[in-house]
Formats: sequence, C-alpha cells, structure tokens
Amino acid sequence: MKTDVQIAQEAKMVPIKEIADYLGINEHELEPYGRYKAKVSLDVLDRLEERPDAKLILVTAINPTPAGEGKTTTNVGLSMGLNKIGRKTITALREPSLGPVFGIKGGAAGGGYAQVVPMEDINLHFTGDFHAITSAHNLLAAILDNHIHQGNALNIDPKRIVWKRVLDMNDRALRNVIIGLGGRMDGFVRQSGFDITVASEIMAILCLSTSLADLKARLARMVVGYNKNGQAVTAGDLQATGAMALLLKDAIMPNLVQTIENTPAFIHGGPFANIAHGCNSVMATKIALKLSDYVVTEAGFGADLGAEKFFNIKCRDAELKPDATVLVATIRALKMNGGVPKNELAHENLAALEAGMVNLERHLENVHKFGVPAVVAINKFPTDTEAEIQLLKDKCAAKGVEVVLAEVFTKGGEGAVELAHKVVEICETQTSNYAPLYDVEGSIEEKITTIATEIYRAQRVEFTSAARKQIGELATLGLDKMPICMAKTQYSFSDNPSLLGAPTGFTLTVREVKVSAGAGFIVALTGDIMTMPGLPKTPAANGMDINEDGEIIGLS
Ligand code: ADP
Ligand code: MG
Repeated sequence: MKTDVQIAQEAKMVPIKEIADYLGINEHELEPYGRYKAKVSLDVLDRLEERPDAKLILVTAINPTPAGEGKTTTNVGLSMGLNKIGRKTITALREPSLGPVFGIKGGAAGGGYAQVVPMEDINLHFTGDFHAITSAHNLLAAILDNHIHQGNALNIDPKRIVWKRVLDMNDRALRNVIIGLGGRMDGFVRQSGFDITVASEIMAILCLSTSLADLKARLARMVVGYNKNGQAVTAGDLQATGAMALLLKDAIMPNLVQTIENTPAFIHGGPFANIAHGCNSVMATKIALKLSDYVVTEAGFGADLGAEKFFNIKCRDAELKPDATVLVATIRALKMNGGVPKNELAHENLAALEAGMVNLERHLENVHKFGVPAVVAINKFPTDTEAEIQLLKDKCAAKGVEVVLAEVFTKGGEGAVELAHKVVEICETQTSNYAPLYDVEGSIEEKITTIATEIYRAQRVEFTSAARKQIGELATLGLDKMPICMAKTQYSFSDNPSLLGAPTGFTLTVREVKVSAGAGFIVALTGDIMTMPGLPKTPAANGMDINEDGEIIGLS
C-alpha cells in the first residue's frame, strides 16, 4: 500500500473556493490562504443565527495502544461516508502539533484513504495559528518578566510565577531553564521552563471562545502568578490582553480545507488532551453546525478523558447538544487491554480479544451516562483476522451493543457507508438526552470524585497534602466553581498506565490542582504529566525529506 503522504499528494483537490461555495459561504466571509486553504470569518455565525444546527457526532475511542487507534482516520472516513449517502457533512478536527509530527506518533491528518489535505501543509505550518498562539503566549511572558525588572509595581512574587514560555517542538532540554542570567540589565534571575505550544492556556482559550470579546475576557482572566499577599495576578493586570488579542486576530478564524474525497473539513485549534480539553475550537464546531446536516468531530485520547471532557467541558461551556457518539475500537487495542504485550498484537489471539472487551463495554456505559446514544466502530487494521472480527461482532451482538466494521483506511468513504447509515439511523430514531455529569457549583473534591468513581470506577480518591492546600487556596480565591480538566494517563482508566482492561478497586491519586481561569477549568493532575514532551531515540524527523521535484518523504 502507498504511504500516507503518497496518497495525499495524489488526491484531486478542488480549489477551496468551490468547497466554500458548496457550503454557502459568501465571498467576503472567505479569506483564502493559497488555493487549497482558507480562513472563514466568524460573521457566518451571525448571518446564519436562525438556521437550525446540524447533527453533532463525537468520535471517541477505547484505551489505545501507543500508536493511536484511528479516531481521526475514522472521523475523516465517516464524514466522507455520510457525504456518499447524501448527507451534507463537515469534519471538524484539531490542528496537528509539530511535536508528535517529528516525534513518534506522526501527524494528525488521518491515514490511508481517509485523510485531510493538503496534509503536508496541515501537518506543518498550516495557516500560522500555532505561531500566533506561541507569540501571544511569549509576549505575555516577556511583559511579565519586564514588569518585575522595571520595579514590580504589582508586587509579584518571583517564586510564585506560573506562566512559562512555549514552543511547538518536542524539546526536553527546555523543560527547566534558568532565565535572567547576566548583568543588572539582563532581567531577574529565576527558574522557569518551556511547555509545548499545545499546552498553552491560550490554546485552550482559543478553542473555547465564542467570539473576539469572549476571547479577550478569557485572556484577561489568565493567572500568571501570585503577589506577595497570595492574590492572583492576571494577564489583565499586566495590561497584556489587547496586544495578545491582536496577535490572535486571524488565528481565531476556523481553517477550511477538504478531505481527499473533497468533503469540507474545519481544522482549528489543538489543545493538549491532558492539561487541557483536547477538542477543536468551539467556533469551528459552531460554524460547521450552521453550514451542514452532520458535523463529525473528535476528542483526544480515549473516552475516559476525551469524551468526558468533550461532554463536561466543551459541550457544557458552548451549549452544544451532541446527538451521537462513535466509539472507535481496534482489535489490536482490545487484545492489548486483554493482556497481550505491544510486540505481539499482530498475531491472532481470540482469548485476549474477548478478555479485552471489558474495556469497550465500560467506555460504552460511560458514554450512556451522558445520555448520548452510541455505536461502536471497529477500525479494521491489516493484521485483524476474520475470526477475530467475527468474534468481536458476535460478542457485541450478544450484549446488545451496536457495532459496525469500518474500512476507511483502505477504502475511504466507501469503507464507512455502513457506519454512516448506522449514524443516520441513530440520529433519526433515537433522542439524545445529553447532560453533563456533575454540577460546576460543587466543591473541587466532589467534582473530581464524581469523575473518578463514575467514569474511571476508582474505589477512592486520594488528594496529596499539596493538592489539598491548592484546593483550599482556589476556594478562597473564588476560583473553584468551574468544570474539572483531568490530566491522567490515556492508557488506563486508572492513573497507572499498566492497569489495562477495566480495573476496579484502585485509588486515584491527585497530586496537584491548578486553575486555568481563562480557559475556565480546574486542572487536576494525576501521575507524571508531561507538558513538554521529548523526542524518541529515532525521531520520525530522521526519515523525512523533500526532493527537487517537491516530492515529500516520511511525513505520516
Ligand atoms: P487517533 O486520532 O486515535 O490518535 P489516528 O487516526 O491519528 O489515531 O491514527 C493513528 C495512526 O494509525 C496513524 O498513523 C494512522 O495512519 C494509522 N491508522 C489508523 N487507522 C488505521 C488502519 N485501519 N490501518 C492501518 N493504519 C491505521
Ligand atoms: Mg487524532
């Protein structure tokens, strides 16, 4: 089979103007970036305010293998399948980060015959949104350090600065740095560090804002540190909001591209799925809902994190009403959840497959707790055997679980026609009674405990003394009535990545609690959460090239 980039480069793209025309986007609402990419003005939302929203479909997954289980690939394939059966559909995705592109996981533009294009642009610089976010973030860092250097009128405690710098690169050497070395004119010496751009709170804000005014209000609320009396100091206090918003004026407009079958795709924003909520921008989702019949979107990581945050944070905040969920499962990941080591996943193993099904069942139960109907999509891999697929279908049927085989990687939209019919059937015959799982007015402990016991099925939650102190401080500051953003391993329901399947009886340990006041959530950290990843021994970057003819090699 051809590589992803070969398939993508052979795709017959149509000019982006044609995609915009098909969606009924007016000429003055479209800002083309070359021939195949464009930004879409937020004015569309005002113009179409009265139009009823399309159906909103969430694509989520079971606990994955490190290679990923194909949420993006299935998302793109399903949107093409829906178009094939006559439903006007838009796919809505996150923008890829350069960290994983050059690291292990690769890009995030789908795979095989289910990709968004031009994939090389989408995976690299795209329309410069990440540059804008990086600049806005680092401008605030520069203003903050300069404020201290110039006399520190806000009495900021240099030991309690929480605003670091960011860069869109996996660069472990920048995790911890000393800044301000040199002479008297070279700034205040302190320890700081870099996070990857997708971990910036500004990324989360861009993705949750509903307008420029909302974006500015959120930017102003971001906490950069604390003063010597323990009060929060914000970006607003540093008078940095206007300049940051200016840097973001184009970045807040969703990016329009297409799939390799010319299905419209909005690719906008890319918050981390651990310390942030892992979904594309609210503005992209909202605009897409006005321009089509079906919108297919994705949330990062497995459903314990991705779907939980999509429902409890994004949908609650943006008042979205999801109509159905597609839970992506692979035979490989089920076997891994059934106890098979990573390097043996290519061999048939019916017993492990059956044992691993407990993982799928629990995710499905969880999605139902939010009142949203669901269907399981088996994302078919070349190593899956007929016997394995049959066993999975039989076991699902015996339990009354709706399951459809999706072959989008090898067949594109054609491979998702059955899944598309099933999604339409669910949307037309079942009602979604979507509701978030907890009330934001509850205490931080209560909200975390609800997620831990209801979704993860922990027996109890332990808060370290540091976490308890932080929770107390946030309550005193009045920064506790917000949803929770859990930062946890994506490999297990628990906080221990090696506890696979459907573990019970475990204790979830919350080690740190902090506020993202602009994004509007409280981050609860369990385990070691990396906000500046490193490169592996052999980075994907080592296999990349471009030749004289413009042919690209090694991007996936
Ligand atoms: P996720 O969004 O869940 O992280 P992706 O859709 O990005 O997953 O897929 C992860 C990787 O697996 C990509 O490199 C993709 O090309 C590959 N992949 C996905 N589905 C298949 C499949 N059915 N067969 C082979 N490779 C696949
Ligand atoms: Mg993905």
